[in-house]
Amino acid sequence: MPELSFASYPDLREQLLSKQTTCEAVTAAYLARIQSKKHLNAFITVFAEKALVRAKELDAKLASGKTIGKLFGLPIAIKDVIAIKDERLTCGSKILSNFTSVYDATVITRLVAEDAIILGKTNMDEFAMGSSNENSFFGAVKNPLDETRVPGGSSGGSAVAVAADCAMVSLGTDTGGSVRQPASFCGVVGVKPTYGRVSRYGLVAFASSFDQIGVFAKNAGDAALVLQVIAGEDKCDSTSSDKPVGDYAAASIDLSNLRVGVPKEFFTDALAPDIAAAVNTKLEFLKSRGATLVPVSLPHSEHALAVYYILAPAEASANLARFDGARYGYRAADVKDLTDMYVRSRSEGFGAEVKRRIMLGTYVLSSGYYDAYYRKAQQVRRLVREDYLKAFEQVDVIAGPTSPIAPFKLGEKVDDPLAMYLADIYTVPINLAGVPAISVPAGVDKQGLPVGLQLIGNLFDESRLFAVAKILEQSEMK
Ligand code: GLN
Repeated sequence: MPELSFASYPDLREQLLSKQTTCEAVTAAYLARIQSKKHLNAFITVFAEKALVRAKELDAKLASGKTIGKLFGLPIAIKDVIAIKDERLTCGSKILSNFTSVYDATVITRLVAEDAIILGKTNMDEFAMGSSNENSFFGAVKNPLDETRVPGGSSGGSAVAVAADCAMVSLGTDTGGSVRQPASFCGVVGVKPTYGRVSRYGLVAFASSFDQIGVFAKNAGDAALVLQVIAGEDKCDSTSSDKPVGDYAAASIDLSNLRVGVPKEFFTDALAPDIAAAVNTKLEFLKSRGATLVPVSLPHSEHALAVYYILAPAEASANLARFDGARYGYRAADVKDLTDMYVRSRSEGFGAEVKRRIMLGTYVLSSGYYDAYYRKAQQVRRLVREDYLKAFEQVDVIAGPTSPIAPFKLGEKVDDPLAMYLADIYTVPINLAGVPAISVPAGVDKQGLPVGLQLIGNLFDESRLFAVAKILEQSEMK
């Protein structure tokens, strides 16, 4: 059985093509690893047999001399909010715990067409609501770097799968930070593309005007390769963009032409000083390599969190109305009548955080409060977006911390939703603006816990983010 020590996907591919290993051996090794890391609770479903059958088919394909795909033999894990035909699609919820998808999401079709191997579905906060992965019906996920701590959320299982070498790459979703924050907490790379860059067809909706599928990997190059495959127009999602997809994996940059915006609103008292220091070290590194650091201001940042926690629950309350016991998933037993079925199926099927969001969302959309909350929040959302677009007239990228705090202890914030929401302070504005961002490892804090640096780009400027991320990786290796 091969060691899981591939430096990157190109390294694995090279070993496969030169017949030093096989898809079957690599897949078996990853499946064994998943088994040995079971206590981390990163997976909800593992495709043990199916992945091996597929690996053998791919080995036969290579042997037959047929053209192989761009992700040939790549072992990948998928957040359990993305549909895979004939597989369970739980969204980390009791209400869908026995629901099976009847079709593939577009991202799945694209990965399979390029010969990736799907290992299983990963654990997550229920319906992607959370920042610690403690809101899952299937139990909390542990951070492999310190198993007493959370991995971040909501895509905690996907971040852990990569960090613990249970998959080479994984897909997550990012509505308010759910790819970038767990990437930062687990010391891996996580990218949220521009809104509309990746099709949402087959992604169970949380807040449709924010949701984007993103990628976790150990390095920026692998994340770029996968994003390149899943990105691009899709007739099944009218919000997907028809802009051509760049060659993200080949992106490079001359730092002497790079202006890096440093927003003063990101470096306040809310930020732990040792996290600020780790981020500043990276900024100084970029400067030493020729980049220009430019102070910028994003004046509406202070309102972003409040705006997000009005708009996202509002959209969620509408999107989750479909789970009523009649059409999907869990239905309460021995109901009296139709209303009783709705009430009991939803009361028993949803967890506390999801119910809290549905109530918040329903409240801000109700007729007496719509103007004061929902409409007002939409207006401020626009101002936040304009802050970013204006800043990008002056600078090429914006850099700052991904999270104001280090990975916290399991259980530490479960009873304090507001403290949990504050963990998203640097990630949600990016979703409000719709721009792309990537979290890359940036050393450790004073306790030795990972710190993430967030690079934010202009609309559809993913290539530049990957190019800068690759340079930052070189600084990590030293
Ligand atoms: N933590 C944020 C929330 O709970 C973001 C979630 C996400 O991006 N899916 O809403």
